[in-house]
Amino acid sequence: MATTERRGDATPFLPKRKSLKALREAAARCQGCHLYAAATQTVFGEGLKRSRLAMVGEMPGDREDRAGRAFVGPAGRELDKALERVGIARADVYITNVVKHFKFEERGKRRIHQTPKKFEVDACLPWLREELAIVRPEVLVLLGATAAKALLGSSFRLTAARGRPIESDLAPHVTATVHPSAILRAPDDAARHAERERFTDDLRRAAHVLADRPPR
Ligand code: SF4
Repeated sequence: MATTERRGDATPFLPKRKSLKALREAAARCQGCHLYAAATQTVFGEGLKRSRLAMVGEMPGDREDRAGRAFVGPAGRELDKALERVGIARADVYITNVVKHFKFEERGKRRIHQTPKKFEVDACLPWLREELAIVRPEVLVLLGATAAKALLGSSFRLTAARGRPIESDLAPHVTATVHPSAILRAPDDAARHAERERFTDDLRRAAHVLADRPPR
């Protein structure tokens, strides 16, 4: 591990006042691990405190890093399409990531996404834990293996548990599916269509659970 990649911890940067606004402002100044140095800005979660549904992805991508907003790039568009198809307004969802700064490798003018390592995820996790403690979603959808392993443990296997209810005290109903970027990585149109349908079906199941729950 390089010295610039030493084990970090966001905890000293957490604000005393626990509100989404205070968290967002404090996270903008986080230097809890080395990832802040190369990224443009912190990309914090978006959504209302009263959101009944929360979704957690891996990390902002290139577009998100530049815009300072979560899920506004190509994967975000896939997520938006799926949400629309299952009748959920994005404004009703609290959307965030386990890691708040973009990790990338420069190749020429391109910035290529790099999967965050466990020590980077662990460093950033205090932000997500605070977000979930404030929002207290009724349904929590984990998007991709990085998010699922971060919150459910490294032994979690997405392929086995995808789309099913997961026993967890994180929320009354917890489920996991792929990150919507998996749709973009499909090798051809047919595979992309199939992956898109499967992802939408997973969100539809979560939408049904939410609809069946009495409003809090
Ligand atoms: S990735 Fe997380 S812990 Fe690391 S600097 Fe950014 S906000 Fe802080």
